[in-house]
Amino acid sequence: MLVTERKPVDEIVGFLDGEKRVFLLGCDGCAAASGTGGEPELAALEAELAAAGVEVVGRKVVDFLCQKALIRAAVRPLAERLRSVDSVVVSTCGIGIQAAATVLDVAVHPACNTLSLGGIRGEWQGEERCLECGQCFLDATAGICPLTACAKQLVNGPCGGAKDGSCEVEPEVRRCAWDVIYERLERQGRVDLLRREGVFQKDYAKMRPPTELRGTRRWAIDLREEKGGEE
Ligand code: SF4
Ligand code: SF4
Repeated sequence: MLVTERKPVDEIVGFLDGEKRVFLLGCDGCAAASGTGGEPELAALEAELAAAGVEVVGRKVVDFLCQKALIRAAVRPLAERLRSVDSVVVSTCGIGIQAAATVLDVAVHPACNTLSLGGIRGEWQGEERCLECGQCFLDATAGICPLTACAKQLVNGPCGGAKDGSCEVEPEVRRCAWDVIYERLERQGRVDLLRREGVFQKDYAKMRPPTELRGTRRWAIDLREEKGGEE
């Protein structure tokens, strides 16, 4: 299970940068269990955004947002409404946000930070990966995570070694992540995001899951064993 926390609404509104009409997507899997992506949490987020002057034209909770086939099936009846919005705010883990961004190919904003695997990998297997960095910045990278898509985990742009769009580390199998990011941002008319100050200042301390999260699952069992079975 991927453990997530909701970002403060001010941060989410900051992503919108003048966009006024949004659609909300949630996830009934890990995010609902984390208290971030279920129907009650989307309703609360809608109220917070409305108070900030953002019009939410609809919301939908998908069973597992990490599964692109489920996203396609869920949004098919919503196509007209989705065409009328400026962007989609996604309240789930980094994998679900990436999957939604790929399927929808519109401006997608993360409403959550992914904190931890919670001790066990439970998401639907796809090509998207999340390093649970605790500071999701997929907003500025068109929903593609450089921490997992770039062979060198570069968060400030490409290394300069790419040839014809292929990654210098694995040219046969991997496209340069930053090439893909630029291409998608350009298609969406959002390349300016790469110039936004402060976006790529990562706090690596946040990559270590908070103690209370580690203490509630398998790490807790390990720790107890190390202490000879004492609580
Ligand atoms: S930026 Fe990447 S590693 Fe960090 S939470 Fe988002 S998807 Fe996960
Ligand atoms: S070529 Fe692109 S994906 Fe490969 S390491 Fe350099 S920046 Fe990362």
